[in-house]
Amino acid sequence: MIMDEKLQRIVAALLKHETTSMPSPDDFREVCEYVNVSKMYYRISFDTEGKYRDPRNNMMVIFGKQADDDAMVLYSDGKKTDFKLEFPYYFGGAKFCDACIEFPEGVTRDELNMETYEFLADVVYPIVSRRNTLMMVDFAENRDLHTGIPNGGFIRKQYDILTKTVPAHQYAVLFINVQNFKYLNETAGNSAGDEAIVVYAHFLMKLAGDKGVACRLGGDNFMLVVLESNLEKVMAELKSVTVKDMRSAPGKTFELSPWIGISHIKEGQESSFVQRQEEASIACMLGKKQLNENIVVYSDDLKSILKRGKEMVAMFFPAIEKGEIFPYFQPKVDMRTGKLTGFEALARWVHEGRFIYPDQFIPVLSNEGLVPELDIAIFRQTCAHIRKWKDEGLNPPRISSNISKNTLFMPDVEKRILSIIEATGISVDDIEIEITETVKEFEYNRLIEFVGVLHKSGIRISIDDFGTGYSSLSLIHNIEADVIKLDKSFIDTIIDSSKSKILISTVIDMSNKLGMDVIAEGVETTEQGKMLMEMGCYIAQGYYYSKPVDRDTAEDMIRNDPFKGIA
Ligand code: C2E
Ligand code: CA
Ligand code: CA
Repeated sequence: MIMDEKLQRIVAALLKHETTSMPSPDDFREVCEYVNVSKMYYRISFDTEGKYRDPRNNMMVIFGKQADDDAMVLYSDGKKTDFKLEFPYYFGGAKFCDACIEFPEGVTRDELNMETYEFLADVVYPIVSRRNTLMMVDFAENRDLHTGIPNGGFIRKQYDILTKTVPAHQYAVLFINVQNFKYLNETAGNSAGDEAIVVYAHFLMKLAGDKGVACRLGGDNFMLVVLESNLEKVMAELKSVTVKDMRSAPGKTFELSPWIGISHIKEGQESSFVQRQEEASIACMLGKKQLNENIVVYSDDLKSILKRGKEMVAMFFPAIEKGEIFPYFQPKVDMRTGKLTGFEALARWVHEGRFIYPDQFIPVLSNEGLVPELDIAIFRQTCAHIRKWKDEGLNPPRISSNISKNTLFMPDVEKRILSIIEATGISVDDIEIEITETVKEFEYNRLIEFVGVLHKSGIRISIDDFGTGYSSLSLIHNIEADVIKLDKSFIDTIIDSSKSKILISTVIDMSNKLGMDVIAEGVETTEQGKMLMEMGCYIAQGYYYSKPVDRDTAEDMIRNDPFKGIA
């Protein structure tokens, strides 16, 4: 190639600048003017989502900006141009970009020396590709690669910038976890999930506006920094976000609602963004996992709840070993005669002389997947008590023990239950399993299987909290249950609500007709007892007769049968 000496000199200077500093627009002007170019730019090949993907693994390597500035413009004289040359460049076998060179009006192809322009494009390409790399590094550092919105690092920097002009206490920091995201993934598939996350992310960006900032931390966790004065409005918008018309789930609509933790600070309070992020995330996590509250505002009390939870988890196995977790027994009584007909075993935890109740420890254990261990421990001890009472010549009534949904997925759980019964040498008639209804299909199918196996072995199954699930009727139809346990919430309203009355009496009728026993839980008054008996339900478990009691008191009850019928 014969190259004009001046061009070589200009290009050499440009390259020199590239190695020492960024070449300036003047550098490009000099070369472009010399070869009569009006505009020079590189157009990166973005896909339809505005992303450039590495063709070897389809990973996104850069996120596109708006269509018009996709191009990396190196020089433009701002004048109207006539025709353009394009030279493609490849990366990993697929087109990465085109070098575009435009000429002033009136210039025709024939008068151009192609080699000159090809040379120009080739020489400048490494510069462009280096700039692109820098952009990618910047992008990777500050953006969430999946959604393109800021990431956790960026929001921290941005918070510091924002709070230079507006005092920090005027900002609320929110930690957001999408509640039903898992459900969306399960029902519509992962690609719909991926799309929904992008939609949600951009919704948050819009909510943040230019006075705030949003970011994605990963998964379905986001953060939002908004002015306290906008918080109310923002919260109202966040309540439910509609996602529809997704490419991977056409025709489907999802309402996404969040768990939100909020960090407020007082005027003058020193607090770094990292601290506020931690506060908001603790609040959000506790709301989700322990308190079942959609919106939780951080306070120092939460820290102690969290700490207690962690301690409980750490103490769980030692507590079982030491016998600090054990069953209490609540009697079940025939209201016609006052005869003791059974007990329910309910877990109690005594720590440093103080009782901890199931509503305090079950949610915590549940998060850690420890409830199955609890269920088995309580079941084992219940069987041991029955053995002991029998050995003492007593005749204990049937005792029910609770099995949670998660326990259904413990490997070989049916075998474990049966082998505990066998090892303690009691009869399957001595015990009963209480299990709650469920809404999830895979749990439902497993429930039916579990009940089938145990029922075949002669173990009685009771459906706990009946009427609070979504599938009560189909459950009755599909499952071989022996007992229906009416939930306390129905009994609470049996006197005042005619709807409850109808519901309860219908369930009682149905159970009687299907040959299942019915028991009412949470009976507290004579009126409730009478009403239930009129409807055909005779067995009651509730404070009317007794709260759950320790094993010695239960033993006295077995010996003395102390209760009276309701006249
Ligand atoms: P549940 O199985 O529905 O047990 C009945 C709960 O209602 C017990 O609370 C009992 O004390 C309470 N209760 C009974 N009658 C009355 C009444 O007349 N008035 C009032 N106000 N309450 C009454 P507890 O012992 O605190 O247990 C709460 C829940 O914890 C249980 O509800 C059960 O879901 C769970 N739980 C307890 N022990 C275990 C266990 O070993 N394994 C599993 N998976 N869950 C357990
Ligand atoms: Ca129960
Ligand atoms: Ca119950």
